[in-house]
Amino acid sequence: MLLVHAHPDDETIGSGVTMARYASEGAHVALVTCTLGEEGEVLVADLEHIGVNGEDRLGDHRIVELGAAMESLGVLDWQLLGGPGRYRDSGMVGEPSNERDGCFWRTDLLDAALDLVPIIRQQRPQVLITYDDFGGYGHPDHIQAHRTAMYATQLAAAPTFRPELGQAWDIPKIYWTAIPKGLIRSGIMALRAAGDTSEMASMDPDEIPFGVDDALVTTLIDGSEFLPNKVAAMRAYPTQINMESGFFSFAELEDSPMGTEAFRLVKGPLGERDATGHETDLFAGLDLA
Ligand SMILES: [Zn+2]
Repeated sequence: MLLVHAHPDDETIGSGVTMARYASEGAHVALVTCTLGEEGEVLVADLEHIGVNGEDRLGDHRIVELGAAMESLGVLDWQLLGGPGRYRDSGMVGEPSNERDGCFWRTDLLDAALDLVPIIRQQRPQVLITYDDFGGYGHPDHIQAHRTAMYATQLAAAPTFRPELGQAWDIPKIYWTAIPKGLIRSGIMALRAAGDTSEMASMDPDEIPFGVDDALVTTLIDGSEFLPNKVAAMRAYPTQINMESGFFSFAELEDSPMGTEAFRLVKGPLGERDATGHETDLFAGLDLA
């Protein structure tokens, strides 16, 4: 299984229990992260000075957080696309950092894909996981990660494309991560019931600016057994994730909805569906012999 994410922490937030579950079941789980998230906010007051408005060393710190998170998930194979620092975080949409030379958003898509094609051809994954074409919530690097993954998948599958980069491999199943709106709605209600007063808890449940319609979700992966691993991995990102209130505190609610992760199958066979109409195994329908 190969996952292509934009920044350290995205893999844990969107696919942490899935990664931990399949790694524990013996699948080879490999992560490619496109940038170090250098433009991110720093939520730890003592570390504010390493942020982009100070020493600009947040990337060096986030790669250490990423390593600790992967240890919590039991994922041994992780790397930065093109090597650490090859593509710089572009920052949130509309920020001047979107224009910066060398940022991921400004990168020639072929350059980025050329770094991913050899990984696909060498690893020959059965399943690819990346974002949807909106990058989940519109961050430029998430959109670029989506484009890079989808383009590299096409190129890797074509025997006539750069044969020196390895033998062609056509990834049989492709999924896009999804946060169902229904889950966000129930999370908002649960936060309010718990007395949370964060921005998230105050959001109008009918006007949620991110997430996908529940009807688009094809696949639900129950990894609740691995929720403690996901929580530990989230806690490995103190500069990025505040576990005490708001969206991320969902993870530690009683009966947390974060133990199940949702995906949209966009290529390959949909496996057997459960009573709720969802596929429950990413590898279902594949001939793995
Ligand atoms: Zn991100």
